[in-house]
Amino acid sequence: MIDIERMKNTFLDLVQIDSHSRQEGRIAAYLKRRCEEMGAEVETDDAGEKVGGETGNLIARFRGTVRDAPPFLFSSHMDTVTPGEGVRPIVEGDIIRSDGRTILGSDDKSGIAVILETVQTLREREIPHPDIEVVFSICEEIGLLGAKYLDEKRLRARIGIVFDAEDPNEIFTRGPSANRIEFRIHGLEAHAGIAPEQGISAIKIAAEAIAAMRLGRIDAETTANIGQIEGGRATNIIPNLVTLKGEARSLNERKLEEQTRHMIECVRRAAESYAVTLDGKTVRAHVEVEVERSYPALNVPEDSRLVQLIKRAAERLGRQAKTISSGGGSDTNFLYGKGIECVNVGTGMRAIHTVNEWIDIKDMRAAAELAVEVIRLHVAHA
Ligand SMILES: [Zn+2]
Repeated sequence: MIDIERMKNTFLDLVQIDSHSRQEGRIAAYLKRRCEEMGAEVETDDAGEKVGGETGNLIARFRGTVRDAPPFLFSSHMDTVTPGEGVRPIVEGDIIRSDGRTILGSDDKSGIAVILETVQTLREREIPHPDIEVVFSICEEIGLLGAKYLDEKRLRARIGIVFDAEDPNEIFTRGPSANRIEFRIHGLEAHAGIAPEQGISAIKIAAEAIAAMRLGRIDAETTANIGQIEGGRATNIIPNLVTLKGEARSLNERKLEEQTRHMIECVRRAAESYAVTLDGKTVRAHVEVEVERSYPALNVPEDSRLVQLIKRAAERLGRQAKTISSGGGSDTNFLYGKGIECVNVGTGMRAIHTVNEWIDIKDMRAAAELAVEVIRLHVAHA
């Protein structure tokens, strides 16, 4: 049912359009035209201005034929890692690879080709479908910035699939969110032998704080660690500064916040009890805290409608899809964090982020077939 030649040609077109992160202008123009030719309304959001890129995320809306089925989202990213300029794809039967000088860019142009072919198939074959929204995002490779700055209010879909992974039979449903936390504990320097009562040891505060912290495996979903400690200058100086670097991770946003708060509390509380009075002036220990957020957690339950749809779609195609969890993040994390139930499904991309990158077009067909089948089931059980 999938027109494998057409999908292959789309893919070959796409990989020959350079699109390093922030330089997605040309590929966005190509995709805008392709989507409009297929009948979509296309807009670009303002994420490009926020990241200093050539274009924002491209959002295409295809009107559905089934009015009461909820709109469905497909998404892939337009940018590639380096070296991705002047890609010359080598076609050997069903295998497409780079010529060894550059990456191929199947990450994530295979996802884009799969989405275009899916929508084209639905429309040509008059397969009943809901409104379909497509997001082709920017700057995924430099920190998921397109998805991060995507304004979800522009989208109606609250369920969807991101195509940005390797195996078309694998569904990424889980991945942790993380906070990197840095503490700078300030004590007061003094000579350790002559005037220890005039000093505040930042090392002692750090020790008390860490001793009070829950660290390691917190529960099935949550972990925490202090991984670096630095401070002190000599054995005869009471140390006035200690830096601690640590992290907390969780599949559950609330637990991540709770653990982060707990770690900050431990340091603040340890510091609070330290003060010295010199010449009638009180000097207190104090703490600076910096928390840097990675991306939201992805945590789509096994019994969710989406996972069940994909698994049944795979079964109907004589395949078996299995859910797995990821250590890293993708656009999926941000979309999920913005309230869209979504998972990441593979397209066949292999050896990505290397000049040996390749893809089997049959895997792309498998991904497109799966997408069409998911839409069928989605409409049938709306
Ligand atoms: Zn990717």
